[in-house]
Amino acid sequence: MSISLTLGDITRVHADAIVNAANPHLAPGGGVCGAIHAAGGPQVAAECRAWVEAHGPVPPGGAAITGAGRLPARRVIHAVGPVWHGGGDHEAEILASAYRSAIALAEAEGLTSVAFPSISTGIYGYPVAAAAPVALRAVHEALAGTEHVRDVTFVLFDEPTRAAYERALAELGRSRP
Ligand code: ADP
Repeated sequence: MSISLTLGDITRVHADAIVNAANPHLAPGGGVCGAIHAAGGPQVAAECRAWVEAHGPVPPGGAAITGAGRLPARRVIHAVGPVWHGGGDHEAEILASAYRSAIALAEAEGLTSVAFPSISTGIYGYPVAAAAPVALRAVHEALAGTEHVRDVTFVLFDEPTRAAYERALAELGRSRP
């Protein structure tokens, strides 16, 4: 399985694409999104504005792709996760869809390596212990159908988040030998 976990700052990652935990209007905002826009510079925000002007807001579960400005990655994929409303509002379905949409855009551009943050588990409030297995399963299943995308890394920002993904990855390995 070509899924790996690492602790770190996704803005420093040299992948073909890094994924942003974006909001529907692709506005800079805070969290990993603020960090990506700060490091990428105004070019990323300008491309985001142009994308929304052309296509409208990105619905939760969807994604858009832009250049990466000054970031070391080649492209940024802006994926919109769900806001957590307690778990009864299709959050898991929407979260899985955000990961699948991001991988589909990378695949369509022939990209090989993609780095993800933990979408929705910051400002959007999704409990990480619940989000991690959804994220890993969605990526694992999507990779079964890709020709180009081979190498997915989750770049996790703090140790509790890394530990939650570690547990979920071990669980996924046990359920799918
Ligand atoms: P959301 O609004 O989707 O919840 P956030 O950016 O608030 O997105 O949080 C998503 C995750 O990204 C959280 O685990 C947060 O700690 C993490 N994060 C914040 N900055 C970075 C960064 N520079 N690199 C990787 N992950 C980050």
